[in-house]
Amino acid sequence: MDCNIGVIRGDGIGPEIVAEAVKVLDAIGAKYNHTFHYDEILMGGCSIDATGEPLTKEAIEQAKRADAVLLGSIGGDAKTSPWYKLPADKRPEAGLLGIRKALHLFANLRPAYLYSQLNEACPLRDDIIGDGFDMLIMRELTGGLYFGKRETREVNGKIEAYDTLTYNEDEIRRIAIKAFDIARKRRSKVTSVDKANVLDSSRLWRKIVEEVAADYSDVTLEHMLVDNAAMQLVRDPKQFDVILTENMFGDILSDEASMVTGSIGMLSSASLNETKFGLYEPSGGSAPDIAGKGIANPIATILSAAMMLMYSFDLDEEAYAVETAVSKVLDEGYRTIDIMPAPGKDTSNITQVGTKKMGDLIVEHL
Ligand code: NAD
Repeated sequence: MDCNIGVIRGDGIGPEIVAEAVKVLDAIGAKYNHTFHYDEILMGGCSIDATGEPLTKEAIEQAKRADAVLLGSIGGDAKTSPWYKLPADKRPEAGLLGIRKALHLFANLRPAYLYSQLNEACPLRDDIIGDGFDMLIMRELTGGLYFGKRETREVNGKIEAYDTLTYNEDEIRRIAIKAFDIARKRRSKVTSVDKANVLDSSRLWRKIVEEVAADYSDVTLEHMLVDNAAMQLVRDPKQFDVILTENMFGDILSDEASMVTGSIGMLSSASLNETKFGLYEPSGGSAPDIAGKGIANPIATILSAAMMLMYSFDLDEEAYAVETAVSKVLDEGYRTIDIMPAPGKDTSNITQVGTKKMGDLIVEHL
C-alpha cells in the first residue's frame, strides 16, 4: 500500500516524539511492504517564525492532499515565548483550531487503555482495575454547547448569560456511524452517553443513535446518563468499549478517563472527518519544560501512528503489531521518566531510557 502522510512536527517536544513515530512507521512499511511518503507541514510556533502565521493556506492545502496527518504538538511557554505576545488568532494554538476546522474533523477519539505494567500509575483500587481496562471515548467536536449561540446581556438591570446546545440529526448520525464502525474493530459495544431525562438535544441524540444502531445488529448499544457515566468510569471502567457522546460531555469524560490510565505521555488521539482522513496526535502538549532534553515519552505519538494505520489505512494487523511492540517493551521494564515508578517503589527490574532509545526498542520488537 502507498500512503501519503502529512507530518507536522511542531514545537517543543513535537519534533523529538514525531521522529520516533516516523521510525516506527518506516519499520512497519519495511516489514509489511507498504510505502509511506511524508510531506512536512509547518504549523504552530515554528510556522509563525518562518511565515508570520500559525497556519498558512499552503499548509492547509498540503494537509488536504494527504491521506492522514501525524502531528507532534504545538505551542510554547506562555510566560516566556514571544509567540504569546501576538493577538490570539496569530498564536500557535490558532493553527490547531484552524486545521481542525479546515479539515472538518468532527469526531475526536481518545483511547483510555491501562497497560498492566503501569498499574501503579492508576489511581483506582486494585479490585477495580482487575485485569485492566480498554475503552475509547468518541467525542463530537464541532457542534453542541461550544458552538451554539451565546450571549451576555442585561435584563431588568441584572446581567445574565446563556449558551445553547444545538445538534441537528445529520451531525448526530455521522458521528454515531463512526462510533459503530469503530466498535466493530473493537469489542462491538457502544455506550451512548446523554442527559435525555432533561435535555431535548439529548432526546434527539438518543433517537438518532437508535436509528443508526438498527444497521449494526452485531454491535450492542446501551444508553447511559452522563452523571452515571462519570461515576461508572471510576466505579467499573472495564464495562466500557466505545463511549459515544456530544462535545461538552466528551470533553469532561475524556479527561476523566485519561486520568485513570496514568501518564499523559501514553495517551494517543485521533480526529476524523467523514472520509478516511484523520489527524493523529498525542493528547499532551509541547511540554516546553522538557523540550530538547531527549527525555519525552514518544509512546503516545507512536500509538497515535498505530491509530492512523487502523482508522485511515485499515491496516489493523500492522496497528496491533505496534501496540504489541509497545507492550513488550514495557514488559521488559523500559520506562521514560514520566512513567517511572513512584519514589519508594521497587525499581530493580526497571530501566530508565530517553526518547530515542524508547523508539529504537519499539522498532526492535516489531
Ligand atoms: P503539556 O501537556 O505540554 O505538559 C504538561 C506536563 O506533562 C509537563 O510537565 C510535561 O513535561 C508533561 N508531558 C507532556 N507530554 C509529555 C511526554 N510526551 N513525555 C513526558 N512528559 C510529558 O501541557 P502544558 O504545559 O499545559 O502546555 C504546553 C504547551 O503545549 C502550551 O503552549 C499549550 O498550548 C500546548 N498544547 C498543545 C497541544 C497540541 O499541540 N495538541 C495540546 C495541549 C497543549
